[in-house]
Amino acid sequence: MIYLKTVYADNAATTPLCAEAFEAMKQSMLEDYANASSLHTPGQIAAAKVLEARREIAELIGANADEIYFTSGGTESDNWAITSAALRGEKQGKKHIISTAFEHHAVLHTLKDLERRGFDVTYLDVHSDGYVRPDELEKAIRADTCLVTVMYANNEIGTIQPIDEIGRICKEKKVCFHTDAVQAVGHLPINVKAQNIDMLSFSSHKFHGPKGIGALYCRKGIILANFMQGGAQEHGKRPGTVNTPAILGTAAALKKSCADMEKNARYVSDLRDRLIDSILTTIPRSRLNGGRSERLPGNASFCFEGIEGESLLLHLDLKGICGSSGSACTSGSLDPSHVLLALGLPHEIAHGSLRLTLSEYNTAEDVDRIISVLPQIVAMLRDMSPVWERIMKEENSDAVQ
Ligand SMILES: *Cc1c(COP(=O)(O)O)cnc(C)c1O
Repeated sequence: MIYLKTVYADNAATTPLCAEAFEAMKQSMLEDYANASSLHTPGQIAAAKVLEARREIAELIGANADEIYFTSGGTESDNWAITSAALRGEKQGKKHIISTAFEHHAVLHTLKDLERRGFDVTYLDVHSDGYVRPDELEKAIRADTCLVTVMYANNEIGTIQPIDEIGRICKEKKVCFHTDAVQAVGHLPINVKAQNIDMLSFSSHKFHGPKGIGALYCRKGIILANFMQGGAQEHGKRPGTVNTPAILGTAAALKKSCADMEKNARYVSDLRDRLIDSILTTIPRSRLNGGRSERLPGNASFCFEGIEGESLLLHLDLKGICGSSGSACTSGSLDPSHVLLALGLPHEIAHGSLRLTLSEYNTAEDVDRIISVLPQIVAMLRDMSPVWERIMKEENSDAVQ
């Protein structure tokens, strides 16, 4: 068997660890084993390193160190931010929340749970291009709205939302604004103060940091409810022994990502554009999901009529290419992606989806490999597809008329 180098094009699901984070974590695992809450010198040394990492991370998103709460990742941060805001709202008799239909399940399922508990949730339309309209958000705000939660950038189709305008509206209307920025932190410039963001969730493994750690930024003055009860860590709000190596790894990864942000964005979006242009021109009845202008540098999301995204993925995998049919969290279920349905795509088309997400670790050769095999795989699957046969028949009869 010929050994094929893996082409990893699933960076929206997770990213490889960077050398800087690995070194920071390795050193920390060996040296900073003392509990950062202990009063002895090694404990205090670990605590000082955690504080320094917290300051660095905070500064990179325009926050203060005491506004950063470390969590187990994006899912926990989303759950915590939303349930906290809901509890605060409930105490003031405000039980209305505004969000969108294409949020990550960490947000959507938390909202569904709140709906079962009597909250009213308005899901804003994301239109066929995958962007929320700020004027529609403004109109949806009511006297009893306690929270607006809109993701910074979508994990499946890569569209970047008008966060500055949403922040301005929420500030003016005095409504708490949370954003799931898991796909944005480390990839796009963020300043929570300038953008009027009250709460922001992020996750280390989406910017070449370790898995199982993330953070919630929560603006000073906004009270977070305790998720768990325990010790005094994270202002007593998120108890449990501090994960020193993961925190230092997060700081190292975020520093690196932010330092290289512009360079990476230019390099990765060039790769992405070549991939998109080639696929759309060589594969008939293919479409790009989401608008092209405000788009994450690495995201290329397609639908190919007449085939199943899952079969496509398996055939790509046989060629050593890793992609996704939607988000990793929905894979395994046979329903088409809720994100593609939110764009108004019919089920039949949404089933033929493929998400390829690149990072600065990808090369021009990776893109060449994808471009050289994808059209053949799509053609082969269409040859076996009764749906495709029907589409072709309809096309022919249209041509005759
Ligand atoms: C990956 C992701 C999450 C979940 O983050 P975890 O750290 O894996 O829990 C939440 N929201 C978005 C947009 C994501 O891409």
